[in-house]
Amino acid sequence: MTTMTTVNRADTAVVGGGIVGLAHALAAAKRGDRVVLFERDDFAVGASIRNFGMIWSIGQQRGAIYERALRSREIWLEIAAKTGLWAAQSGSLHLAHHPDEVAVLEEFLAITPPARERGARMITARETLERSTTARADGLLAAMWSPTELNVDPRRAIPAVAAHLAAEYGVDIRFGTTVRGINLPGVSTTAGDWEVGRVFVCSGNDFETLYPEVFASQRHLMRCKLQMLRTGPQPDGWQLGPMLCGGLTLLHYAAFDDCESKERLAARMADQMPFHRENGIHVLLSQTADGRLTIGDSHAYAKTLDPFESEEINRAIVDYLGTFAQLPNPEITERWAGYYPSLRDGRTDLIAEPEPGVTVVNGVGGAGMTLSFGLAEEVIAGR
Ligand SMILES: Cc1cc2nc3c(=O)[nH]c(=O)nc-3n(C[C@H](O)[C@H](O)[C@H](O)COP(=O)(O)OP(=O)(O)OC[C@H]3O[C@@H](n4cnc5c(N)ncnc54)[C@H](O)[C@@H]3O)c2cc1C
Repeated sequence: MTTMTTVNRADTAVVGGGIVGLAHALAAAKRGDRVVLFERDDFAVGASIRNFGMIWSIGQQRGAIYERALRSREIWLEIAAKTGLWAAQSGSLHLAHHPDEVAVLEEFLAITPPARERGARMITARETLERSTTARADGLLAAMWSPTELNVDPRRAIPAVAAHLAAEYGVDIRFGTTVRGINLPGVSTTAGDWEVGRVFVCSGNDFETLYPEVFASQRHLMRCKLQMLRTGPQPDGWQLGPMLCGGLTLLHYAAFDDCESKERLAARMADQMPFHRENGIHVLLSQTADGRLTIGDSHAYAKTLDPFESEEINRAIVDYLGTFAQLPNPEITERWAGYYPSLRDGRTDLIAEPEPGVTVVNGVGGAGMTLSFGLAEEVIAGR
């Protein structure tokens, strides 16, 4: 008697159910591919659910990467319109409590017409306080208002995007399934073998399982550890409105790299906030769908990072937040660490083709929520 073995087939396989994998599954499915996505865990628990949920166009490299962020924003809004996932078009405020911060923001706007065309502009302290009840009034000089930033709730959004891919595009999502090896057309998983036309490997912080040589060959690829905090729910009906940040953020995001006035700000911060600078601390504030506040973060870079949280770093984050924002309910109810791969040479992504038909997409660093949907469209269109 002969036994028939069923072969599972798809046009495109995606490894990884974080935002990068989901974005590639969506882009391939929109082009008509039959897509299967494999996620090792029963639900994604990597960087994609540990972040602020900030779709933060304004901080991205000026030019093509900023446009990519705006395209991603459109896709987030398309998905939100179809699924009802919480995506607040809250915009952002860069608060300036020091003249050197005002100088960087003004210079940024002067040299970045595309941001101005999208509505970014300086506003007075009074206008700032009209937009945000959370911004700290004393010492506030001005702010940069930008309307393009979008606030999603990552712990809800990532499962919602996965469910949307399955329901709307028939993407076959296999949770609890690790991809052990790829030898096209074969894909070997812990839940059986597949035959596929091509594979996108979006494995985030796991450099060891698939194509370790691709990661080993990247001299500038490091892992980054970030510490995060969350408050309990805020009083009934309270809304953050625009997401907030202060002066340290101007030293963190690539958007401000070309601002010469940054040097003075950097010198002051090195003098006044050495601990913050040494630990890569800059502070952002976003909201969750149920009205909690997400606060962070710090940045430590190494090939291997320990899993321990430093309470000194957490305190430094909260202290700096207090210099520019006042929360109705500041009680911290959660702390966690997140990890992602980061390219330390200014590149915004790592795209490699270790063999024909296999594309590794990684290295989106601290902007995966902001850039992945746009990036995936570009990657899929090029293949
Ligand atoms: C604390 C923190 C705050 C951040 N804030 C923001 C923000 O506000 N805005 C923003 O734009 N970005 C932010 N980021 C960055 C963003 O979260 C990341 O860029 C993004 O989540 C990376 O997505 P990913 O899909 O590459 O990785 P991950 O989300 O880690 O997903 C990779 C997935 O691949 C799976 N996997 C790996 N190997 C296999 C295998 N062999 N088989 C099957 N599955 C496998 C893993 O289980 C994992 O679920 C933040 C990140 C952190 C950590």
